[in-house]
This record gives sequence, structure tokens and C-alpha cells, in this order.
Amino acid sequence: MLPTVSHGDGLHVYDTDGREYLDGCSGAINTNLGHGLTEITSRMHQQLDAISFAYRTQFTSEPLERLSGLLTDLAPGSLGNPLYCNSGSEAIEMALRLTTVFHAQAYRPFKCTVLTEEPSYHGMTAGALGASGHPLRKHNLTPLLANQATVAKVRPRHGEMRADVEQWERAIDEVRAQNLAAVIVEPVGGASSGAVPCDPAVLRRLRELADRDGFLLIADEVMTGLGRTGAWFGCDHAGVVPDVMVLGKGMTAGYAPLSAVLVRDEIAAAFDKPLGSVLFGHTMAGAPLAAAAGLATVEYLKEHDIPARAERSGRYLRALLDGVAARHAVVRDVRGRGLQLALGLHADPDRSPGVAHDLVRAARDNGLLLYPSGVNALTESVMVAPPLNSTEAELEELTVRLDRSLAALTPAPA
Ligand code: PLP
Repeated sequence: MLPTVSHGDGLHVYDTDGREYLDGCSGAINTNLGHGLTEITSRMHQQLDAISFAYRTQFTSEPLERLSGLLTDLAPGSLGNPLYCNSGSEAIEMALRLTTVFHAQAYRPFKCTVLTEEPSYHGMTAGALGASGHPLRKHNLTPLLANQATVAKVRPRHGEMRADVEQWERAIDEVRAQNLAAVIVEPVGGASSGAVPCDPAVLRRLRELADRDGFLLIADEVMTGLGRTGAWFGCDHAGVVPDVMVLGKGMTAGYAPLSAVLVRDEIAAAFDKPLGSVLFGHTMAGAPLAAAAGLATVEYLKEHDIPARAERSGRYLRALLDGVAARHAVVRDVRGRGLQLALGLHADPDRSPGVAHDLVRAARDNGLLLYPSGVNALTESVMVAPPLNSTEAELEELTVRLDRSLAALTPAPA
């Protein structure tokens, strides 16, 4: 039985029994600025009083236009032309839709294979889940995953958690360039590998191959985007501009549902009509209330230089986690980038997922929220990804509770 949430304050969450939890994983790695931030809630209240909904084919809104301008300024290269959705999954679905129409309208219908990674997680709708390399989340759903015939997978070498340059090159050769519509990649893994970064050399090579072979490079930045990894975008660490960038989660820091697909000018220009009118959209997508939350969030991130702060806090937290890891044999490694970190765990292959869920439960009993990740015993892990504006004292408290939770998990020596 789950506890009933009562209220939140910064990175503290309280239940109706009066218990306090420190949020070590920002909800689902989306409440990136903690709870009750008046800079966001006041703007939402104002918008709610003015108008919360207007249909996207009838009106635009001031917060949406300003948010679009801000995202276009912040995104690298010519990425912009935002299309809005309500969740990361929907936005991945939109990116797949865009890919399909992009090739079809240029008389390249044979370009229909999407290459993604094993492991990866791109969302729970049929297309996004079909493109994911996450067997646990696909279990029993095969009949629903209509796109299985058009999804190819790149796998890591035995004993490795993510594919290297050579594995990607081989997979692209196998698909054959003329059939490849797009590659989707997570700059740092989330629920899939548990914060294993993509080698920057892979992203750079994928950019070269996309240019050579005419497929779209889609960066799934639903988790990594907008500061989480200590840069504005995960791709920035490799200096790579994807053709399509998908944002979600941190866009409104959990204050409202909103996600976006950003598209390079050169790709958007290939469509003879505005993208929104070709690809359509969801009823609530980009409605004024969510747009106001998104605008207030992204302005806050910019004004307070939050990505740089996440980079500093990430280094600080990582050092603390290294100290904790050294005290507990169950911890295999500490990994990640910025404040998207994880503890890799020594898992029992016959009981995976097991230890990650045990640790999440033990942590909850010790007043700490963590996020289980990984798709097998090799990748089994818990993500440690607190809000990007956490203080050093809060990060220290997090590690005290984590240490206690790991001790509760590990049987005491005889
Ligand atoms: N892509 C990535 C990298 C994610 O981590 C997630 C969610 O965890 C999604 C897509 C799907 O987003 P949502 O849960 O908002 O549909």
C-alpha cells in the first residue's frame, strides 16, 4: 500500500501520516526544482485566472510563444520549430511521426527502419515502447507494438552496458543505409541502463553517419534535457546537434504536463506546410496553463544558471556517493553525469530485478526516495537524481539516509 501524499516543500515530500521523505530522485526525475517554488506557482495561478485552455488550432498564447522563443535560443544549432505534447512518450511518438512523414513526402517510403539501443527506454505508448530496448516494460505487450517490424536494435558487447562506435557502425551497416529512417539515442541512460552515459564519440559518429546516409538523428532528451546532466542538453557534452530533440519531464519541473519536439530548421523547411498542421497534435498540447509552467520553469533555470549549478552539485554528490559505495559491497559502481547519477548494484541474475527494488523500499523506510533502473542483472541500479537546486547540506543528508538504507539492506556480518 502506497503512502498518501500530503504536501511538498523543496525536496521534502510529506505523507498524510506526517512522515517526511527526502526526494533523492526528483519524483520520476522530473521535479527538477523541488516543490512549492513560488516563481512557478504564482505564474500558474495568474494564467489559471486568465485562461487555462485554448485550442492549438484556434489560438496561440503569450506564454507558449515566449517559451518557444526561449527553447529555440537555448537549443544548439538551428534546433527550434517546437511541437508540443503532454508527455515524453507522446513526444517520442511525434518524433517517429515526423520521421515517417519527412521521408514519405520526399518519396523515400523505403526509409522506414528506426534503429534504437538495447537497453533504452523511450516511453510507454505503442510506437515509443516498440522503439525501446526494455524487455521488462514490454512484457506481454508484443501484440500492441505494431512497429516491431521496423525497429532494429544495436546491442552492447558482452559485459558492456552500452554500444560503442563499432557496434553502432555494424548495426547501421546491417540495416542498410537506404532503409534507415532514424536513430534514437539517450545521451545518458535513464530507466534503461541507469545513468550510463553514451560515449561522446558515439554521438559524434552518429552525426557523421546521419549526414552521410540521410537518416535523422533523434536525441531522446526527455530525462537529460534542460540542465539535468550539468549542461543545457545531454548532447552538448559531445558538441553534437541532433536533427530532432525530444524534451519532457524537467520542462515544467513537474508542475504541469508538457513535452516538446525541437526540429532543425533544415528539416522543418523540407515540409511545405507548418509542422503542426502536417503532424497534428493532442487536444491539451501546449495549452496556456502548461505553457505558463514551462515558461516560468525555463526562465528560472536560465536566471539561476541551473545547468552550471547541477554540474557543480553533481561533482559534489558523486564524491559523497563514492564514499558511501566504498562502505557497501553491494554497490558495483557510481555512474552518470551531472545530477543524473546512479548506483550500479551487484544483482542476482536469478532474481533481477530484485536488489534495486529492495533498496528503493529500504530507502523509503529511511525517508529517502530513489528510482529503480536497469533491465537485467548487469544494469540493475538505483538512480540518485535530486532536484537541480538542492543545497550541499541537502545532498549530505541524502547520502546519510542512503548509507542507512544500504546498511539495512546488507545483512550484518556474522
Ligand atoms: N524517454 C526517456 C528517456 C524517459 O526517461 C521517459 C520516461 O521515463 C520517456 C521517454 C517517457 O516519458 P513519459 O513518462 O513522460 O511519457
